[in-house]
Amino acid sequence: MDDKIRLGISSCLLGAQVRYDGGHQLDRYLRDVLGEYVEYVPVCPEVEVGLPIPRETLRLVENEEQRVRLVFSRSGEDITERMESWAQGRVKQLEQDQLDGFVFKSKSPSSGMERVKLYDRNSVPKKVGVGVFARHFMEHFPLLPVEEEGRLNDPRLRENFITAIFVLKRWRQMLAAGFTLGRLVDFHTRHKLLIMSHSQQHYRQMGKLVAAGREHSLMDLRTLYLVELMTALRLKTTEKKHVNVLQHIMGYFKRDLAGDEKLEMVELIENYRQGLVPLIVPLTLFNHYIRKYNQPYLKQQYYLNPHPKELKLLNQI
Ligand code: SF4
Repeated sequence: MDDKIRLGISSCLLGAQVRYDGGHQLDRYLRDVLGEYVEYVPVCPEVEVGLPIPRETLRLVENEEQRVRLVFSRSGEDITERMESWAQGRVKQLEQDQLDGFVFKSKSPSSGMERVKLYDRNSVPKKVGVGVFARHFMEHFPLLPVEEEGRLNDPRLRENFITAIFVLKRWRQMLAAGFTLGRLVDFHTRHKLLIMSHSQQHYRQMGKLVAAGREHSLMDLRTLYLVELMTALRLKTTEKKHVNVLQHIMGYFKRDLAGDEKLEMVELIENYRQGLVPLIVPLTLFNHYIRKYNQPYLKQQYYLNPHPKELKLLNQI
C-alpha cells in the first residue's frame, strides 16, 4: 500500500459504463499512462447512491431560498438529501484508503469540482456550481490535491498535480517509517528546491518551521508542516519561478563549471525563459554536472527528478 500512489477517481473516467446513458468517459491517459504508477479507487456517486443505469439526467438548481439542490432534469425530483447523506458516509470510508488525491469528472452535478452548471430560478445556467460529492470530498480532505480530467490536458496543471501526488506519497512513506524531527528535516531538505519552484514565501516559512521544530510537539509539527506543504504545492509553478530555481542551482557550480560550461548553462536557462526549450533541457544538463562535479546536496533534490521520466511531464512545460 505504501509504494503505489492511491488516487480516487470518478469511475466513468476509467471506462466503467455508469453514465446516465449507459456510456463511459474513458480517459486513456489516466488509465494507461498515469495508471502505471497509480492504484485507483473508483467512485461513482450516482450509481453508489442507488440510481439505475441508464437514468434521467441530474442538474444543480438554486431554489427559492437560494439553496443548491440536486434534482432530476425532467421530473424535478429532488435527491439532494439522499446524495448528501451518502456522500458524508462515503468520504469517511475513503479515509481508510489513504488517498493521495482525486481526479473528478468535469461538469457533473455529482462529481464536478468547479464550474458545474447551476440553474437559477429562471432556468438560466451559470457555471458556478460544484458537484455534491466533489464538494463533500474537498471539505473533508481540504489538503488533498484534486483535479478534473479536462484540466489535466493542460501540461502545467498536469505536471503540478502529478508532482503533488508524488510528494504526498513520499510524505506518507515517511510517516509509515515513523515521524521524527530528523526524518522531517531530511524530507524537507530533499524537497527544498521543489517547494521553492512553487513559492519562495513558503520555502522560507517552512525552513523556519523546521529549524524551530523542537518548539512544537511532533503532532503539531507534522500538521503545521503538511498544511504549509500542500498550500505551497497548490500555487502553480511558472516559467519565472523555474528560472529563479535554475539560477539558484547555478550558484552551486560557481567554482566547478569551466567558462564554456557556464556559458552553455546560462544560454539554456535563457532559452527556457524565452520558451525555446522545455524545462527538461536545462535540468538534464544540470543532472549531468551534478554527477560530473559530485554535488551531494543537489543530487538528493526531488526538483531535478520529481516524477518518473516515462511520464515526460517536464518535456511539455
Ligand atoms: S460523472 Fe460521476 S456520477 Fe457521473 S457517471 Fe461519472 S462517476 Fe458517475
